[in-house]
Amino acid sequence: MKTDKSRELFCRSRQVIPGGVNSPVRAFQAVGGDPLFIQRAQGSHITDVDGNTYLDYVCSWGPAILGHAHPRVVEAVQKACADGLSFGAPTRREMILAELIKEAMPSIEKLRLVNSGTEAVMSAIRVARGYTKRDRIIKFKGNYHGHSDGLLVKAGSAALTTAVPDSAGVPRSYTENTLVALYNDRASVQELMEKYGHTVAAIIVEPVAANMGVVLPQPGFLGFLRDITREYGALLIFDEVITGFRLGYGGAQEQYGISPDLTTLGKIIGGGMPLAAYGGKEEIMNQVSPMGHVYQAGTLSGNPAATAAGIATLEILRDHPGYYQELEEKGQQLAQAFRQRGEERGERLQVNQAGSLLCAFHTDRPVLDYDSAVSSDTQEYAAFFRYMLEAGIYMAPSQYEAMFVSVAHTPQEIQQTCQAIREYPKYRR
Ligand SMILES: *Cc1c(COP(=O)(O)O)cnc(C)c1O
Repeated sequence: MKTDKSRELFCRSRQVIPGGVNSPVRAFQAVGGDPLFIQRAQGSHITDVDGNTYLDYVCSWGPAILGHAHPRVVEAVQKACADGLSFGAPTRREMILAELIKEAMPSIEKLRLVNSGTEAVMSAIRVARGYTKRDRIIKFKGNYHGHSDGLLVKAGSAALTTAVPDSAGVPRSYTENTLVALYNDRASVQELMEKYGHTVAAIIVEPVAANMGVVLPQPGFLGFLRDITREYGALLIFDEVITGFRLGYGGAQEQYGISPDLTTLGKIIGGGMPLAAYGGKEEIMNQVSPMGHVYQAGTLSGNPAATAAGIATLEILRDHPGYYQELEEKGQQLAQAFRQRGEERGERLQVNQAGSLLCAFHTDRPVLDYDSAVSSDTQEYAAFFRYMLEAGIYMAPSQYEAMFVSVAHTPQEIQQTCQAIREYPKYRR
């Protein structure tokens, strides 16, 4: 596999872009080697600048649920572009996309369009604070909600206290109001709520955690969060930036039958363009400026090309409800291939799967939370990643990311991937 051109571009990029990448996970730091520079992508495949083509299970980290460059989505964007790239004034498309989202998720009565998941979460939290007139929020260890200051936290040394910044450049005071609980651990939430509940504006959670590998909520966990937030007058925010329109057309909230007060969306709703949203109960969303006193704005929010891609993507998903069953089956087949390998080789593999999201952890502990996730042997993952790449299969360059399956992955391609998974050379110890 020749990668000369990627290497050359990486060298040049590093001169002008920190680490040569515009988002850290794109660097192959966790698996070794240099990142591939991508030239184009179509359907389930991506092609790098050296002309190598790979079966892609990163799918742009989620947006490409229809596969890359779906003709209808590309056409919609091209048509929109011809009419102008940005107006800074309201458009019909923004309204149509908002209506589509509201129709898909009944908990969302009103919503705002923004440009990234980070912005959506940051804004939802501001609204929750404005509405409840409380400052504290609770997040879960290992859940990711973008890179805004107050959310870039790790649990304090005496776990379950105020969080401490997890990045240089974040003042301690910015994270003072962020409390960290443990995913799937009701007692950790209960404890924080007993102590701080009446000052907590919101609990924010990834209903299916997909940024520490994939970790499913234990039965009753999300319902417990719904109940305890109501009990203390706090809001429940579902961060569905990954799960929205992926676990089903109605997202995780439909799958698990829980109605959050606020929801954040991103990735799929932009169909590959920079677009995200936050929304929820009308009474809460009416707090947003110009109706209310919570300020939130954006020069490019509701961008014409981005909303065109989003509308086309959601309409295709809405009109093909069978896609979600297909994605579930593909996800199950891949998960089964990992499990089979684990059993046949006595290899330590824990496989978590929800629809088209899955992750095989190299550990013998069931993965239910952050601590069990990080018990995974990342060197094992790195070796597996390199093997898959050699086999023409592009996986996330990190153990702690999901494997994303798209509608464009054919049954044959799934079978080919299952075979590669099962044939992974010998147990390496
Ligand atoms: C990707 C992601 C974000 C951040 O979205 P960006 O568009 O990268 O800013 C927030 N929350 C979750 C759950 C995500 O997966």
